[in-house]
Amino acid sequence: MTTPGPADLAGMTDLDLVQAYAPLVVDRDTAAFYRGWLARELRVARCDSCGHTFLPPRPVCPACWSEDVGTVPVSGRGTIFLCMLLHQGPPAPGVDYAEGPYPVVTVELEERPGLRFTTTVVGTPVADLAIGQPVTLDWIDRNGVPFPVFRLAEDAA
Ligand SMILES: [Zn+2]
Repeated sequence: MTTPGPADLAGMTDLDLVQAYAPLVVDRDTAAFYRGWLARELRVARCDSCGHTFLPPRPVCPACWSEDVGTVPVSGRGTIFLCMLLHQGPPAPGVDYAEGPYPVVTVELEERPGLRFTTTVVGTPVADLAIGQPVTLDWIDRNGVPFPVFRLAEDAA
């Protein structure tokens, strides 16, 4: 299998997008969010009426109930807000619980207090992870498509 290039990913059909990111749920409300992943860009939902930013993507603004909601890219910089070490869990692509606990971090993004994104963190032994550490976004390949992960900021420099 060859790795698709950026042009191939940009032209991906909705059906291919749904299949590429399964078991994550790609639907009408989240397609723009996941198309950002194809472009290696983390996007958050943004209300065009009041400017509120939020995740996960939803069709209605939780602050003002406007349905005028789009997406905007964020820097991917933030700090670890919550860290979970999964010793077991459902089968997932790229996850091998036998290799050791799989880290899942919720990161508070620098754009706004309370704006948080959850994924895994790579490049650091799980024993060295701690709440409050600065992280930056990076991308790994999973199922032939880009998948967002965090790295400790000091390691990414
Ligand atoms: Zn709003």
